[in-house]
Amino acid sequence: MIRCVSCGEKYNNDEIIYTCGNCGSVLELVNDLNIPKETFENRKDTLWKYKELIPVREDKIVTIGEGGTPFCKCDKLGDELDIDLYVKVEGSNPTGSFKDRGMTVGMTKAMELGVDTVGCASTGNTSASLAAYAARAGLRCVVFLPSGKVALGKLAQAMFHGAEVISINGNFDEALEAMTSLALEKYLYLLNSINPYRLEGQKTIGYEIVQDLGWSSPDRIILPVGNAGNISAIWKGISEFYEMGYMDSKAMMTGIQAEGACPITKAFRKKAMDIVPFENPETVATAIRIGSPVSYTKALNAIYDSNGYSETVSDDEILAAQKLLAQKEGIGVEPASAASIAGLMKLREEGIVDKGEQVVCVVTGHVLKDPNTAIEACTEPVEVDANIKKLKELLLNK
Ligand SMILES: *Cc1c(COP(=O)(O)O)cnc(C)c1O
Ligand SMILES: [Zn+2]
Repeated sequence: MIRCVSCGEKYNNDEIIYTCGNCGSVLELVNDLNIPKETFENRKDTLWKYKELIPVREDKIVTIGEGGTPFCKCDKLGDELDIDLYVKVEGSNPTGSFKDRGMTVGMTKAMELGVDTVGCASTGNTSASLAAYAARAGLRCVVFLPSGKVALGKLAQAMFHGAEVISINGNFDEALEAMTSLALEKYLYLLNSINPYRLEGQKTIGYEIVQDLGWSSPDRIILPVGNAGNISAIWKGISEFYEMGYMDSKAMMTGIQAEGACPITKAFRKKAMDIVPFENPETVATAIRIGSPVSYTKALNAIYDSNGYSETVSDDEILAAQKLLAQKEGIGVEPASAASIAGLMKLREEGIVDKGEQVVCVVTGHVLKDPNTAIEACTEPVEVDANIKKLKELLLNK
């Protein structure tokens, strides 16, 4: 069953619907929750090991092997901050971001429904993922990107997998509005995260974290928030496992936004349920350069219901955290992902994150997604002849 998160109106699973026909709010899937947790042990480590909790047909699955990502204990950084820190490395998914979790499920639903064209608006990673999964499924793929604001690696992927890439003169929010209109007129099947099937895939980040910790929830999960689908999805995953009695507590959901694109944090500070959109969102973290997050209702519910938090970080803080994670722990992430680490450092300083807390930071995309930003953060290599004497001089003088 599909249900409206605001008014509770119910819809059939096979209805092609993105928002509530009654009140216009966002939708979610309601699943049967009575599976013993042992079902999920000793299975191949992809998100499809949770197939009993993912409401699509098994014979239609479109997969490239998503989920089962590294869960790294980060003691160097954790000790400095006096916490028990883990990082969930979503850049290890097939196209290099967590979007693949949503896309494998969304594309499977597209095959079930028998559509011929899929589409999305994207800050980059959704289009890279959609293009790959559409290629695998053999469907036509159309993507709208905000002109000039998509990181190089993501653009390369979308084009290389054969999507029809259209550059929109406008920001992400405008591109999404245009794409949504086309979907409502049934030109294509929309695979942005407003599509509730996407979140059924992404909720498995929450599942995996709990299983990674031996059927226990961390105290807190910190992640970057853009369109706000992922924080909503992870909270759904945590809540479903909790309802089935797999663990006895739930994580505080903590969403980090960039200062130049932070409508959710602003709403949180006012304890509001509504957001005021940013007309001209701006940040180096292009994946979260979003002024009007479609899943804000779900995200704010997640933060309030979990006794969580929301904070902003500056671009400088994001870039510093990106470098720190790369050079202290060997984990290379794109700028948006580093917002979780930057946010953790700030919240620890503010005393919101307590000493000794068990914290999981979700790092959402791979460093190679945005090679230009990575190169800009470094000094150029020294150029020298392959002469041993010169090389020795150079290395000894360091
Ligand atoms: C999509 C994306 C986000 C933001 O996720 P939302 O679900 O839009 O909040 C953060 N980081 C990366 C790398 C992304 O691709
Ligand atoms: Zn409704």
